[in-house]
Amino acid sequence: MERLTTQVIVIGGGATGAGVLRDCALRGLDAILLEKDDLAAGTTGRNHGLLHSGARYAVADRESAAECIAENRILRKIAGHTVEETGGLFVTLPGDDPDYHDHLLAACGEAGVPAHDIGADRARRMEPNVNPNIVRALWVPDATIDPFRLTSANALDAINRGARVLTRTQVIGITVKDGRTAGVIAKNTQSGQEISISGQVIVNASGVHGQHILSLANINLPMFPSKGSMVIIDYRVNNMVINRCRPPADGDIIVPGDTVSLIGTTSKKIPYEQIDNLFVEDDEIEVLLADGEKLIPNVSRTRVLRAYAGVRPLVSVSGSIDGRQISRGIVLVDHKKRDNIEGLITIAGGKLTTYRLMASMATDLVCEKLKVAASCTTHEKPLPGSEKALPQKKSVEGFTGASRSVVGATHFRHGERVRRILTQDPDSYGLVCECEMVTAGEVEYALKNLAVKDIVDLRRRTRLGMGPCQGALCAYRAAGLFNQLGGVEGDKAVDMLKDFLEERWKGIKPVLWGDALREAEFSHWIYQGLFGLDGDEPGKIFNQD
Ligand SMILES: Cc1cc2nc3c(=O)[nH]c(=O)nc-3n(C[C@H](O)[C@H](O)[C@H](O)COP(=O)(O)OP(=O)(O)OC[C@H]3O[C@@H](n4cnc5c(N)ncnc54)[C@H](O)[C@@H]3O)c2cc1C
Repeated sequence: MERLTTQVIVIGGGATGAGVLRDCALRGLDAILLEKDDLAAGTTGRNHGLLHSGARYAVADRESAAECIAENRILRKIAGHTVEETGGLFVTLPGDDPDYHDHLLAACGEAGVPAHDIGADRARRMEPNVNPNIVRALWVPDATIDPFRLTSANALDAINRGARVLTRTQVIGITVKDGRTAGVIAKNTQSGQEISISGQVIVNASGVHGQHILSLANINLPMFPSKGSMVIIDYRVNNMVINRCRPPADGDIIVPGDTVSLIGTTSKKIPYEQIDNLFVEDDEIEVLLADGEKLIPNVSRTRVLRAYAGVRPLVSVSGSIDGRQISRGIVLVDHKKRDNIEGLITIAGGKLTTYRLMASMATDLVCEKLKVAASCTTHEKPLPGSEKALPQKKSVEGFTGASRSVVGATHFRHGERVRRILTQDPDSYGLVCECEMVTAGEVEYALKNLAVKDIVDLRRRTRLGMGPCQGALCAYRAAGLFNQLGGVEGDKAVDMLKDFLEERWKGIKPVLWGDALREAEFSHWIYQGLFGLDGDEPGKIFNQD
């Protein structure tokens, strides 16, 4: 069995785990992150991508609202290239309680969230697609954030500082000796090989899987999974985040995301056994589309691209299943204090927006246990891609041969690293994914630098296949590049292509009607009819002219 030794073992490669890894690395600690799938494959990659201003929580949870606005400001500074400063509106529709607007405005003031009553006319001018019948509107500093690039930028920075990241590596055992943890046993999910990793402190940042991880150390920390479903439509119908001005409910937000828009969300308690088998139900899609249309009537004229769900854990620190004892905010547990096991910490709950704060809280506790006096600097040290003030997208110069939109899109995704991606080699400008303007240079950069193991990982790093055609015209080119640049055998590349299409299919299946059905038929025709993906000769597709 392979054996590794480190100071800190981080379980989970979502935003929180990657944030902890980076914080450890910045404080000079040796750390290894273990992720059973890929970075951001869990809830981190299954949300709205809203960089909360805090307004959504201002009425019901002032503490979370204050945390959100503080982190919103920090992330704009340290992770600017993953943030789009869209601004957000809270709009009141005819029939909504008009007093909620005043209530929210006052609550935002108390939580320190800047909110301005801008009136319906100005809101209609700022966001022309919003329902013309809105009666009141508030502006708040909501923004959008790309969870995939945020997570990989944290991991990249940590790796550059000496940390190690093992993806496709699942923790299957925790070793406890004399009341303290000694390390973990993990398994490579691709090869089946086991690895033993010794470490002084283990940080359980495995999100809703945290309950299971703790059971490996005989600890009972009940987590109650709450599923939220979302749908993506094929046009960016809004440039600002549009929230319905009412107490949080289903279908009350539309978030722009790059070339598309996303309608969210439902909220449903599910049994713990279902967390790895999430499916979106028909009634959820109906509610989301019907309520989305009330916010932006043009939603009815769009094509639904896909539906997906994420699950957030509600953590019962006391072990009680009484709803009132269950925390909805950030949960940091020192298992020495709670369960008398030294060297084990759980960090869960919170939001994507507060991942950095959660990571700093967990790393403070790690340092306390290791008696290391280094303090947190993640609030001031920019992530890779955001090191320097970014030039205006359209004025990035020195890329003769690349169109402005290619430079702009690459710059949008990777910040100032655009200069390493679009090299002087004209081949690096060649488009692989037209919808998202992903070039061969970007694919090569991701394959070589961003721990990409297959086309699904590549999608998370570059947005390849996430646009309106959902991979119909780019996935096979990506498979070819894996073969050409990534040293992957032809047969293996075909398997990757199939895995990618199957993964996309899971999200498309729940919305198969009308144009979405036609699009799916088109993709089927390309891959099975034209390239014979299910035919006798795998690999043949790459040899065709
Ligand atoms: C529907 C929905 C919408 C949301 N929208 C927003 C939003 O717009 N803005 C916002 O700020 N927040 C939002 N959130 C909250 C946010 O998504 C989460 O708080 C955040 O992503 C949690 O990140 P995490 O790293 O803690 O957990 P995760 O992202 O779940 O990461 C845990 C990781 O641990 C890994 N893991 C599990 N078991 C093991 C094991 N045995 N070995 C190794 N690895 C393991 C998993 O594969 C996973 O990658 C939303 C949540 C939901 C459910």
